[in-house]
Amino acid sequence: MGGIKEKIYGLVPYPLKFILLNIKGYMNVKERFNKDFYKYYNTFKGQWDAKIDVLEDYQEDRLRGLLIEVYEYSDWYQTVMKDIGITASDIDNDPYAVLKRMPILKKIERRTEFERILNKSRETAMVGHTSGTSGTPMIDHVDLASINISFAFWKRFHYAIGLGPKNRQVRLSGKLIVDPITKKPPFWMYNYFDDQLLMSTYHLTENNLGAYIKKLNRFKPVLIDGYPSALYIMSKYINKHSLKLNFVPKAIAVTAETLYDYQREEIEKAFQCNVYNQYASNEGSPFITECVEGNLHLNIDSGVFEFFNTDGKKAVPGDIAKLVVTSFINYRTPLIRYDIGDTVMLNDESSAACNCGCEMPIIERIIGREDDILWTEEKGYVGRMDTAFKGLTGIKKSQIIQENPKEIVLNMVIDEDYNDSVELTLLKNLKERLGEETEYQINIIEDIPVGANGKFDAVKRNFELEF
Ligand SMILES: [Zn+2]
Repeated sequence: MGGIKEKIYGLVPYPLKFILLNIKGYMNVKERFNKDFYKYYNTFKGQWDAKIDVLEDYQEDRLRGLLIEVYEYSDWYQTVMKDIGITASDIDNDPYAVLKRMPILKKIERRTEFERILNKSRETAMVGHTSGTSGTPMIDHVDLASINISFAFWKRFHYAIGLGPKNRQVRLSGKLIVDPITKKPPFWMYNYFDDQLLMSTYHLTENNLGAYIKKLNRFKPVLIDGYPSALYIMSKYINKHSLKLNFVPKAIAVTAETLYDYQREEIEKAFQCNVYNQYASNEGSPFITECVEGNLHLNIDSGVFEFFNTDGKKAVPGDIAKLVVTSFINYRTPLIRYDIGDTVMLNDESSAACNCGCEMPIIERIIGREDDILWTEEKGYVGRMDTAFKGLTGIKKSQIIQENPKEIVLNMVIDEDYNDSVELTLLKNLKERLGEETEYQINIIEDIPVGANGKFDAVKRNFELEF
């Protein structure tokens, strides 16, 4: 929904919200499940278990096509390429060599130069707005073919985990689907045409969670997707009260936030089904998706992935690396060697094969946003903080905020199981990871609200680092 429509939606009462949402839902289904979508979907399904050389040929063709398009039709890339002496025949001969010569596209350029970046041979079919991590809005123009392609890759992910293109589904949505101050259910909205129940992530309080679970039991979704933090809160409630669910979903798919191991454990225990992680972005990044064997595959038919170290060198197996992407999912706003601001951990053995049948390369872990990574002088980058809480009782929610290299603020919501010895262990764990010289401030608070987009920031570094 666009800005004005969203505002109107926010103002009207629940029954009218239901009607508006379903009109939108009807249009979406008609638009999305079209002939072109199925054409891409069938191609991509076939590619999921294709031989690696077939996939590499496909990637090379797509890359060549993309580079030629931007060379001809994007003012930004045309200037960049001409400045460094790239010609059309260079692209034709070896698109990968050309890619290596291209400069990295920075976020700030993507934001301020977006009009020059646009590919003039494609028409805008949709304008998207993303809030960006630091709240800086990013405008995204997308063409119709790219919408179909992106939707088809997303549905290919579902195919790979054993689902069809249409599923009875619950989505834990960061959108304001019901009045944010409402204290009574419904905290959800049913989209009839998608057979999708949208549940709010802004009302997941102890008082309301019982109503959520009852609704889930009546709805019986085949697929649940959403932010891991929201699913985690729900699962913790289910496990703590030993609630019985009268359905078992086929899959739970999470996206948009870092998925921590403790969250996966809690969610899988509550719902008795596998959690599958997926990486994609509103800006049209290529996909990284988890398979039935629990491995994260780089979907190399959706783009080109490059990995760089903190010192700008090519990353090696086992490294925490910065992700730089070239995308086959957004032809209207082309992303070539785009520094998307996310980090991953590379696999120890780059050639490890997966038993799921997919030959696309594997990475070890999606670490998350660069600003999810803390930094202290003593320890440098500290990527994962969830392990500091492992086995500790009484901590219901926590959030680590770092405003400068020497200070860590820890906000926590606790219950009766929290005590001095837990706090001592926690401090010890923090010091081990972040250093002895850092100052730690622990705040016990009533609640930690979700941030923009309904996402929960478990770890947040609020100062810039030269990566
Ligand atoms: Zn696999």
